[in-house]
Amino acid sequence: TATSAGAGQTSVFTLMTRLAAEHGAVNLAQGFPDFDPPLALLLAAEQALDGGHQYSASAGLPLLRRAIAADREQRLGTAVDPDDEVTITAGATEALYCTARALLGPGSEAIVLEPFYEQYPPCVAAAQGTIRYVTSRFPDFAVDLDELARAFTPRTRLVFLNTPWNPAGRLLGEAELRRIGELAAEHGAWLVADETYEHITFGGARHIPVASVDTCRDRTITISSVSKTFSATGWRVGWAVAPAPVTALIRGVKQFVTFAPATPLQAAAAEMIASMPTGYYDRLRAQYSQRRAVLADYLARLPLELAPHNGTYFLTARAGRDDVDYCGELIRRSGVAAIPASRFYHDPAAGRGLVRFAFCKRLDTLRLAGDRLTTEE
Ligand code: GLN
Repeated sequence: TATSAGAGQTSVFTLMTRLAAEHGAVNLAQGFPDFDPPLALLLAAEQALDGGHQYSASAGLPLLRRAIAADREQRLGTAVDPDDEVTITAGATEALYCTARALLGPGSEAIVLEPFYEQYPPCVAAAQGTIRYVTSRFPDFAVDLDELARAFTPRTRLVFLNTPWNPAGRLLGEAELRRIGELAAEHGAWLVADETYEHITFGGARHIPVASVDTCRDRTITISSVSKTFSATGWRVGWAVAPAPVTALIRGVKQFVTFAPATPLQAAAAEMIASMPTGYYDRLRAQYSQRRAVLADYLARLPLELAPHNGTYFLTARAGRDDVDYCGELIRRSGVAAIPASRFYHDPAAGRGLVRFAFCKRLDTLRLAGDRLTTEE
């Protein structure tokens, strides 16, 4: 179905964080860490405050663009031009917004896989595009590739992909991505690859960067940020990597949105990415595995059915009842906030009963939440 989404309602993240504060609840709703970024990043930030207090280039600090290009070249084996193919944005959020505004307009369409990250529909609406949803369901959240093929029309310009996928908690696979790329190529569409959770994977599963798949390579806009990889969601430093002509369009929009994010924080991110401590990504994964195990152990004791999970820092489960009611009661009775995940479907009926728990928290926070969840009144 083709519908245009409005941006009229308050973000469910804002809503649940506010409710959590009002009720003194442990916030496992909005996905942000309650621990500090790595020391190396904080030291780099301290250093960066010695100078560079004015605007950076609107495209972003050249040092950071070079660091991101080098990191991608190393991991993907394909050359990235920091001058013409990388744009620094105020978080992945601004990159997503500018990409939608750059490539969509009245009469054009975007495909959004659901459950979606909450920001995608309002981005399309802001660009006056129309959305076609492709629905994946609990517990496997498999992409129905036939339904996807039917969602493409001659007006399709963008396909929003999120891998690792929030809130589905899974990685898109090679075969899925290859087919998605083929369909996009047939219709001249671009793939928006939101890869903010790229380093948060589990059980030996390896994230496949969308741009590393042969059918996707020339038509992908890759978006990521420091938020999740470096536990710094408040820094608002993100980026978009795209072929030069698309980069030019994204920059055209971006110059009149934020112009550029905070210069010292860009400088610190550049320093961090250019001299990554050995084993950083492995440690990040190991720490998240431990946090996940603690939360999963508690959730297993509740009348909840957990979805399989191999990526992102969210566990999604099905409660045998309405998720909005369930989360309301969870906050009031147990003092734990989670997200009613039917909000991530255009027709909430498709996700009725789904509840998303964030585990990007200290172990003592997770244990406090777990004890509250499993204690009988
Ligand atoms: N990405 C985070 C989440 O899914 C929240 C983002 C936000 O609040 N803007 O919880």
